[in-house]
Amino acid sequence: MRRMFRRQIRKGAGHIPPILQEANFAFDKGEFGRAGELFEQIAQTVDARGGPRAPLFHLQAGRARIYAGQTALGIPSIKRGLALLVERKQFQRLIQARRRALTELRERGLNEEAAGIDAWLKSISPESSEFETQIPPSKKPVLPTHCPQCGAALKPDEVEWLDEITAECGYCGSPVREGEA
Ligand SMILES: [Zn+2]
Repeated sequence: MRRMFRRQIRKGAGHIPPILQEANFAFDKGEFGRAGELFEQIAQTVDARGGPRAPLFHLQAGRARIYAGQTALGIPSIKRGLALLVERKQFQRLIQARRRALTELRERGLNEEAAGIDAWLKSISPESSEFETQIPPSKKPVLPTHCPQCGAALKPDEVEWLDEITAECGYCGSPVREGEA
């Protein structure tokens, strides 16, 4: 599996790891337990080598577990993803990931879990007041709903903008433009 992920680093190439496509596919089909399992595997591999996408994969693994109703399995992944963003001082990402995670937990009636994560996050963040008041970046062009390469559901907070019209899929690194699908 390690070798597979090394190849994935090349940008825009057709070397998308099958496990990533499988994970995205399972998530889209609503097989959240299976998707959670796959994203956990991906997250661990990427995390072990300090990959820039590790937070995203942990958060997605946690989300899948929460959607599957496996709260106890999901919370550690969400925390690991958020903790990595704190560690790497990616505060813009952190604001968005925090907001989304808390919203998704509360939508499922997991208010205690949401409050727990929020309190824990404040305790590990150096300047929590600062990251809470930062303003999200201005609106960007509308992206296709899914990455044409790896099939990930694209969210504006999970892509890296390369220029005004081109974003990079946070999951596989392929460039994505408005209108492509
Ligand atoms: Zn992709």
